[in-house]
Amino acid sequence: MMNGFVSLVGAGPGDPDLLTVKALRCIQQADVVVYDRLVSEEILALIPASVARYDVGKRCGQPSMKQEAISELLVTLAGKYQRIVRLKGGDPYVFGRGGEEALLLVANSVLFEVVPGITAAIGCAAATGIPLTHRGLSRSVTLVTGHVQDGGEFHGWSGLVKSGGTLVFYMGLERATELRRGLLQAGAPAHLPVALVVAGTTRQQRVEVTSLACLEQAADMLSGLTPVLMIMGEVVQLRAELGHMAETLLQSVA
Ligand code: SAH
Repeated sequence: MMNGFVSLVGAGPGDPDLLTVKALRCIQQADVVVYDRLVSEEILALIPASVARYDVGKRCGQPSMKQEAISELLVTLAGKYQRIVRLKGGDPYVFGRGGEEALLLVANSVLFEVVPGITAAIGCAAATGIPLTHRGLSRSVTLVTGHVQDGGEFHGWSGLVKSGGTLVFYMGLERATELRRGLLQAGAPAHLPVALVVAGTTRQQRVEVTSLACLEQAADMLSGLTPVLMIMGEVVQLRAELGHMAETLLQSVA
């Protein structure tokens, strides 16, 4: 058994005030922090200066560290340090590949914990005035990733449409055409409201509301901006009434 203890820590969607107390404590007590591109500068500023850091993030156009290499790095660090913090955007177990890292830690008998974080869907919903469920409008919310391993095709469109609930897509806008086609062919209504949320919960937050039929036009307006979350469903209409106050408060965040 190695000495090091690894905390897979969810850093939340961006606003440092949305870190959990436990996440903040982990950061302050760490010997080494491994982080990636989704972790905001404000949160990185909370890491004490004496703490060793590893940036394993993908940056546009630059090579990133492969997932296997990141997991292996954690195992190596567990042999050198006592408290290792693996800081991830949102929640580690929601499209964060935290599960893969956890499996390798278990396989190498490294002790670890998972500190949950506010996932992008939850953070963006609050910051844009879009309740993910709402009586009479949506009885469920489904979190969907746009990434398909090995370039395989996604066959789940009709299941998503049949659910009748809110759909939240974690993916870049480059798949907008495929998404629109897949959902329309599966019977989703053309008018289905969609909110595209860029950098939700931060002062750079930007929101475009459109319909499924016009998804690409709205995506074009935001091209190049990241990260982007898509919230789809009738609940998006509530933003007309609830969005203003959420966004006014966001601008006044210190
Ligand atoms: N583990 C993370 C998700 C990682 S996948 C979580 O729980 O939130 C990366 C995707 O998350 C991005 O492509 C984007 O779709 C979404 N995302 C993360 N943070 C975001 C933010 N602040 N605003 C909008 N989308 C965000």
